[in-house]
Amino acid sequence: MIDNDTISAISTAQGTGAIGIVRISGKDAFMIGEKILRHRSGKPIKTWPERQVRLGLVVHAGKKILDEVVFFAFKEPKSYTGEDLLEIQAHGGIENLKLILDATLEAGARLAEPGEFTKRAFLSGRLDLTQAEAVIDLINAQTELAHRAAINQLSGELSLVLQEIEEKILHILVSIEASLDYPEEEIPSLEREKALETIRLARSQIRTLISQAKKGRILQETATIVLAGRPNVGKSSLLNALLNEERAIVTPIPGTTRDFVTETINLQGLPLRLVDTAGLREIDDPIEKEGVNRSWDLIKKADLILFIIDSAIGVSNEDQAFIEEINQNVQQPKILFILNKSDLPPKISPDELSKLYPGEKILNLSTLTGKGIEELKISLRSELMGEDFSPEHPILVTRLRHKKALEETEEILNQVENQIKNGVSEDLITIDLRDAIDTLGEITGRSVNADVIEAIFSQFCVGK
Ligand code: GDP
Repeated sequence: MIDNDTISAISTAQGTGAIGIVRISGKDAFMIGEKILRHRSGKPIKTWPERQVRLGLVVHAGKKILDEVVFFAFKEPKSYTGEDLLEIQAHGGIENLKLILDATLEAGARLAEPGEFTKRAFLSGRLDLTQAEAVIDLINAQTELAHRAAINQLSGELSLVLQEIEEKILHILVSIEASLDYPEEEIPSLEREKALETIRLARSQIRTLISQAKKGRILQETATIVLAGRPNVGKSSLLNALLNEERAIVTPIPGTTRDFVTETINLQGLPLRLVDTAGLREIDDPIEKEGVNRSWDLIKKADLILFIIDSAIGVSNEDQAFIEEINQNVQQPKILFILNKSDLPPKISPDELSKLYPGEKILNLSTLTGKGIEELKISLRSELMGEDFSPEHPILVTRLRHKKALEETEEILNQVENQIKNGVSEDLITIDLRDAIDTLGEITGRSVNADVIEAIFSQFCVGK
């Protein structure tokens, strides 16, 4: 799987900038450097002092000057990729960078695939898989909290906890294997108790990680909040009120479609995608049915539904039918009721609404005066991240891939616990314990298959 040819790519964004970077990594990096770089005097470059900034010229075919640049040499293994690496900082015009890239390719480099620099860092053991994933997350982070989660992961915090869990499982494995050497003896009961206690501790660490997974996903991928309700209850007014207060995030997801308006905001570090399903109930036209279906798909996938009621009108039959439809269509819907237009004389109070929908959270607000918007923001945060969420506590698990592997490991440990309790033969138990270690190792990439690795690195851009 390890390619040892030399790769090259433009590592800065595709656009005009003051500076643009071309990177070359692999065993021929400096040989390619000798072909395309010159001292400013025009003399060839013979030595590549490590990590020193140097000024020079990029030339094409040994003579035509392309640009005046600075460059750095990193010798293996002390580089991002763990290989010899040459970084050229040029003037940031896209044509300029393409010409320099072409020069590196003509000199013998191959155009890097998406994420190939980071993949090489993984394959050379410079980063584990969670850290490589953190690099993608860091690049894509849209809020400070998402950025912090990525930095924690990049610095190896998740790997550290996983290592602690693995050591616990390994400890049980070693003590059981030791008892296998004396087949005439059973696992002493003290050892058995110790093993069970260690399993409990490992499982509790795994549980803590799993419980963070949903919050981690929200940080990395944004939470979807659907604004639902009859026409004229104030859905788009609420969307605008939140947009006016919070910074909008520009996302590649198209904003306004025929079926709904989508805006993404940064709510104190949480990236929230707000979707106004205007029109969901107004459509009779069968041709528009497709749009309605799409709105329902969104409602089904929503992390939270804000169901908005006009308090000056009260809960109409149509409102009730709509809520019933949500309950029928959505598995365990998470609904936050909003009684809007609280500036007008109310037809229904929060207490009365609470009697109709016991146990549901209800907020009174007015998008017109802004009263209640602050409470709504606090509620959004606690509904999505839990009451005890604090930005000071790092979230370590941000990916479904991690969560699945943790759940599988937990399942195997449950099995092992039962086996120990039921006196199942030790060699069967050791097989399961090894299985648990391997499953855990999928997260860091120690025991992961090539397809998973390909899938992860294909999410990167070229040049990273
Ligand atoms: P949507 O159809 O649910 O998106 O509702 P809109 O946001 O378009 O609002 C419908 C009407 O209600 C508009 O005339 C708004 O100005 C008005 N409206 C929205 N929120 C409030 C509010 O809090 N108080 C009052 N008095 N009017 C509101």
